[in-house]
Amino acid sequence: MTQFAVADGQLLIGNLPLERLAARVGQTPFYAYDRGLIASRVAELRAVLPPAVKLHYAMKANPMSAVVDLLAGLVDGIDVASAGELKIALDAGADPHDISFAGPGKRAGELRQAVAAGVLVNLESFREVGLLAAISAELGVAARVAVRLNPDFELKGSGMKMGGGAKPFGVDAEEAPRLLAEIGAAGLRFEGFHLFAGSQNLRAEALCEAQRQSWALARRLADCAPAPVRVLNLGGGFGIPYFPGEQRLDLAPIGANLAELAARAAAEMPEAQLVIELGRYLVGEAGVYVSRIIDRKVSRGQVFLVVDGGLNHHLSASGNFGQVLRKNYPVAIGNRMEASERETVSVVGPLCTPLDVLAERMALPPAAPGDLVVIFQSGAYGASASPQGFLGHPAVIETLV
Ligand SMILES: *Cc1c(COP(=O)(O)O)cnc(C)c1O
Repeated sequence: MTQFAVADGQLLIGNLPLERLAARVGQTPFYAYDRGLIASRVAELRAVLPPAVKLHYAMKANPMSAVVDLLAGLVDGIDVASAGELKIALDAGADPHDISFAGPGKRAGELRQAVAAGVLVNLESFREVGLLAAISAELGVAARVAVRLNPDFELKGSGMKMGGGAKPFGVDAEEAPRLLAEIGAAGLRFEGFHLFAGSQNLRAEALCEAQRQSWALARRLADCAPAPVRVLNLGGGFGIPYFPGEQRLDLAPIGANLAELAARAAAEMPEAQLVIELGRYLVGEAGVYVSRIIDRKVSRGQVFLVVDGGLNHHLSASGNFGQVLRKNYPVAIGNRMEASERETVSVVGPLCTPLDVLAERMALPPAAPGDLVVIFQSGAYGASASPQGFLGHPAVIETLV
C-alpha cells in the first residue's frame, strides 16, 4: 500500500519505524492511525467538494476519542448513532448545532440526552415524535429534528445497502407526508431531511445517481414540510479499495455532481445546507492493525503464521463483518518491507476457531516468530466492530500517531 512510506525495511507510521512504534505502544496487537493521512484525506476532499457542501464525519467508522478530536477540528460536523458516541463528539468539542443523531432504535433516555445537548435528531419512526414532544415540554427546549427517509430507490453496487425496499432505517418515503404533519402538529423544530442509501461504494456514477435521486425526493417532500428545509444530508457511502482489482473511487464526477445539486438547492431550496457524511472514506486507509508472529507451523505442506490477535480485534479482516465471500485485506510483514523473496502462507489468529483467519494463502516475505504482521485498510470498522471478549484474549490498544 503506497500511502505509508518505508525506510530500512520498516514500514513508517507517522514517520516512526514500525518496531519503534511497537516499543512505544508497549504491546502487540495494536491499531495505529496516522493523523497526517487523515488530515490529507480531508484536504483532498475539500479540494473537490463545492464549498457549499458541508462534510460530516460518521463516527461509527472509528470512534476512538483521539481520532474524533482530530476530525472534529477538520470537518463541519459529526454524525453519531448512540448516546455513547454523542458523549465522545461533545467531549471532542464539536458544536452541538452540527452534530446529528441517527439510529433505528433510539431509547427514550438517549433522545432526552440529545435534546438537552441541542443536537439534530434524525427522526426514524413515528414513535420518536411523541417522545420528543414530551421531552421538549419537560426540558423547555424545542427538539431539532430532520426526517430520515427510507427512499424508494437503492444505491447500486454498495457493500451494504441501507435504503430502498423494506428497511428498519428511516421512514418509508411514502409515509413521510404523514410524519411531517405529525411533526408540525407536535411543535417540533423541523430542520430537514437525511438519506443514507448504502456503504462501501466504489462507483462514482452510482453515488451521483443516488445523490440526484435523494435531492429529487427531498425537493418533492419539502412541499409537505412544516418549515423550510435548512439541512439536506445526502448521505455518503464512499468506498475504499480493499481487494485486488478494486479501483479507487473517482472523486471528480462526485464533486461536479454535488456542485450542480448545490446550485439547484440555492435556487429552489435557498435555506438548505447540503451535507455529506463519510465514515470509512475519511479514516479507513489511515489505519493499520499490527500483530506479532507467535508461531510458524507447517501442516501437510501449508505454512501457517500464528499471530497474537485475530478476529477478536479485527472481525472485518477475517471476512466475518458482512462480507459474502472471504477475501484477503492487503497484508505485509512490516519489519521486512524490502525483502524480495516470497512464500505462500496463511496468517491466522490465536483463537480456537477456523473463522480466525487474517490472510489466506498469500504471497509474503518469509517470516518467523517475532516478526510483525501488518493489515492495511484497517482504520475503519476495526477495534469497535470486533468481539473483543470472544475467547478471553487481551484487548487491543489503539494509538493515533
Ligand atoms: C454507517 C453510516 C455511515 C458511515 O458509513 P461509511 O460507509 O463508513 O462511510 C454514515 N451514515 C449513516 C447513517 C450510517 O449508518
